[in-house]
Amino acid sequence: MTHGANPARMHEISDETTAIVDLVLAYSRERLLATENPLDKPLPPAELARLAGRTISEHGIGARKALSTFEHVLAPSCITTDDPQYLSFIPSAPTKASAAFDVVVSASALYGGSWLEGAGAVHAENEVLRWLAGEFGLPATAGGVFVQGGTLGNLSALVAAREAARERGVRPDRWRIVCSVEAHSSIASAARVMDVEIVSVPSGDDGMLRGTAVRDALSTHGDSVFAVVATAGSTNFGIVDDIASIAEVTAEFGVWLHVDGAYGLAAMLSPLARHRFAGVESADSLVVDPHKWLFAPFDACALIYRNPEQGKRAHTQHAEYLDTLTETGDWSPSDYAVHLTRRPRGLPLWFSLATYGAAAYRDAITASLELAQRIADEIDERDEFTLVRRPQLSAVVFERNGWQKSDYSVWSSRLLDQQHAFVTPSSHRGRTNARFAILNPRTTLEHLTAILDTM
Ligand SMILES: *Cc1c(COP(=O)(O)O)cnc(C)c1O
Repeated sequence: MTHGANPARMHEISDETTAIVDLVLAYSRERLLATENPLDKPLPPAELARLAGRTISEHGIGARKALSTFEHVLAPSCITTDDPQYLSFIPSAPTKASAAFDVVVSASALYGGSWLEGAGAVHAENEVLRWLAGEFGLPATAGGVFVQGGTLGNLSALVAAREAARERGVRPDRWRIVCSVEAHSSIASAARVMDVEIVSVPSGDDGMLRGTAVRDALSTHGDSVFAVVATAGSTNFGIVDDIASIAEVTAEFGVWLHVDGAYGLAAMLSPLARHRFAGVESADSLVVDPHKWLFAPFDACALIYRNPEQGKRAHTQHAEYLDTLTETGDWSPSDYAVHLTRRPRGLPLWFSLATYGAAAYRDAITASLELAQRIADEIDERDEFTLVRRPQLSAVVFERNGWQKSDYSVWSSRLLDQQHAFVTPSSHRGRTNARFAILNPRTTLEHLTAILDTM
């Protein structure tokens, strides 16, 4: 230790810590309430390094300088994902209540792994999970945990599915997962991690996986299939598989049905889209990402099991120092996924839902569904565009007639350079296209038509 140094300097309440907290909260308040926020864009690594300079040193640069570097150099090099004209990938649009409450979650040093340490937080998270399960038609005994993202949620559910098959005494030479060719890349990632094989089943021309195709795959591969994954809103097109017909087949074969609704399942909250998800109530497990269309900050995925015991049997970690937690019957979120230490990342959603009520969520989701239909009509009416598929949810994919891949790239870069919008090219069956992923309630028809005008 440096002679005369105070080892508690960074932790104790002093003039220094008070000034730091005030500085950071003032910045947070300003960002949360900002009405004009540039879209921003990444700088090349060398330029960023030059502008940021060296910030880590033996004695620190101080909070004022560090925050100033963040505000003026680092933050402007991060795209504003909650901008209404961020329309790429899947945007993020946290409600103000959820984003503000995320500050509280950090400030309170909450631990969300065990009932013993975080009962109050776990109770509130579980209320949200139960509410979601009810919306999806699962029984009141369903439950699960908020994990980091859909990728980890899908992996955890599939691990539980395989464990359930093992418990039934199934011992194939090779384990298999059946899913659509349009399933999300995280299913293939889970298969690699688990060292199992993917059976990719062709979807119809409309992109939907159906029970008949799943039946063929199950007949061919028999017992080696431990799970069928139905996609409730593909990421590229927002296509919902025919879950009801798939559920009939998985019930008949006694195979675990997992529903990947990371992006799309939130749309079930809207009366406009609810009918598309018939069959979800039969899922053995499902995921939906609050950081996508449930308007929560990064990063959160709700993973729900029909029978949470199956998640627990697959995932509980055992260690001498943990016995005091695992030998009780308490509900500990750590037990339901591939993780141990966790922040209660479901709390921002809980606070926001409690604040505004579920109807506000239904209205916000409905608005995006309607906007997607209106811009699809507009695209249909313009001679220079072709709609690739009629949108089911809120992803609108279209081509600018006559454009090559390079035209889309140049146009997309220009839109971002001009700080107009963030719309990256996508592709389907080898053809480049443009895609609007609409879920920010502040996105308007005028925003979207003005972007079409630039093409
Ligand atoms: C986004 C998405 C995922 C992955 O979720 P992350 O939170 O990004 O890990 C999985 N499946 C679907 C359908 C998605 O849209």
